[in-house]
Amino acid sequence: MSGRQLLRGITRCLEQLLAPGVCCGCGCDPGSSSVLCTSCQARIHPIPNPCQHCGQPNPLAGIICPACRLNPPRWQKMIAPLQYQGITRDYLLQLKHTQATHLAKGLCRHTLAAFRQNWPRPQVLLPVPLHRERLLERGYNQAREIARIWSADLDIPVDRHALTRTRATALQSGLSANQRAQNVRLAFTYSPRQAYRHVAVIDDIVTTGSTVDEITRQLHQAGVEFVEIWALARAYRR
Ligand SMILES: [Zn+2]
Ligand SMILES: [Zn+2]
Repeated sequence: MSGRQLLRGITRCLEQLLAPGVCCGCGCDPGSSSVLCTSCQARIHPIPNPCQHCGQPNPLAGIICPACRLNPPRWQKMIAPLQYQGITRDYLLQLKHTQATHLAKGLCRHTLAAFRQNWPRPQVLLPVPLHRERLLERGYNQAREIARIWSADLDIPVDRHALTRTRATALQSGLSANQRAQNVRLAFTYSPRQAYRHVAVIDDIVTTGSTVDEITRQLHQAGVEFVEIWALARAYRR
């Protein structure tokens, strides 16, 4: 057993001791070792047959949807298993605004299989950064929290300082797709601990994808060959 595996086992035991048998979603007794009760789990909806490239539902058989065959996104792969709606949206808003880390843990564990099946594994996880001022204001970056949990569960290191947001940008919500792309243009810098070839960029939600598109552009420019985007949820296009 490696030191990291041992540490992970100890962390899980401590979590169980501190919050034994409490559902992360509603606080009830989930009745098993799961972190979400069956009623909360039933209200979380996965994206059906997601395309491996854009994360949207693929209307055809196969792993890449027709839209991506014609006009592929800049990044190489996306895994964002949940539909951003209903209770999942409520959970993610709580996670962002109230530092509800128990929800991050619940949703990360609920979606873990999708990431565990993914192979080959990225060398490193890179959380989407907040600008320093917004981090001070909010006291917390949910993408970092999610990266920390996946790092422990999947045994992949996090490089928290590789990406920085050098320009304070307006909030993306309420902007059109074009405005979002303009808003994040040149907002990030990339200075990794070492040269990576294969990375996963971590965020809580992917909506239009303009933030992760801009980050991918910079990563490719710096020589990263394979960029995966990992998030808990995807704005869902039927
Ligand atoms: Zn529950
Ligand atoms: Zn696609």
